[in-house]
Amino acid sequence: MKKIRVLIAKPGLDGHDRGALVIAQALRDYGMEVIYTGLRQTPQQIVAAAIQEDVDAIGLSCLSGAHNELFPEIVSLLEQRDAGDIIVVGGGVIPWEDIPFLESKGIQKVFTPGTPTKDTAIFIEKAVYERDGIEQSIKEPPKKIDHIGIAVTSLEEALPFYVNQLHLQLEAIEEVVSEGVKVAFLKIGESRIELLEPIGDAGPIASFIRKRGEGIHHIALAADQIEDRLRELSKNGVKLIHDTPVKGAGGANIAFLHPKSAGGVLYELCSKATKEAE
Ligand code: ZN
Repeated sequence: MKKIRVLIAKPGLDGHDRGALVIAQALRDYGMEVIYTGLRQTPQQIVAAAIQEDVDAIGLSCLSGAHNELFPEIVSLLEQRDAGDIIVVGGGVIPWEDIPFLESKGIQKVFTPGTPTKDTAIFIEKAVYERDGIEQSIKEPPKKIDHIGIAVTSLEEALPFYVNQLHLQLEAIEEVVSEGVKVAFLKIGESRIELLEPIGDAGPIASFIRKRGEGIHHIALAADQIEDRLRELSKNGVKLIHDTPVKGAGGANIAFLHPKSAGGVLYELCSKATKEAE
């Protein structure tokens, strides 16, 4: 597949370009070809460079406060020159209240300071793939085993083994009413053991214990972009229990894959909201 080409441009009178250089490098690290215009470019120069370099996207950076004039002017010049399919995103010092205006003028996304640079790369990639009708594929494997879920009839009876014999640290006990379980998390290095006690006898853990007895119930893989992953898995014929993520213990977004497609193992994909910014 061809490399995505991005023009990083600084319209207006900004005196420095540290932020623009950082984003240019981040996009290169992500595998894109990046052309940088340098400081103090006019909208006409930027549009001419974008067309000449045949880029997929333009990243505009503006610190001077003139973004409300400069960004829309660039979009309309692109349209005049039949290059309206070039994706335009912006960043720099832009107040939140200006973002709806800019997005209404055809800037597809405005990134505020502090946005992880990788998010910008992911957004541009997605926008280009959507424009070109290319199905996006997930490149990164899950990050680690987040936890192993173990079905127990009683936390009260199960915990002493983990705490007193294995000396694991009990982190939290929580009820997830929607799943009909009470959950205890025990920390083990980077991962956790998740003990699952059924509440009542209607939920999935209750029926698991009835059918198979206590024991390992599922393996949870820490992964971002869960929705994209589910779409891709489903497209590739992997059976899912959840088509879209649901809320699990600790406020995580989770989704289960069907064991029929995974050699009899129940896998959970799990993304912790607080760790997304890493
Ligand atoms: Zn789990």
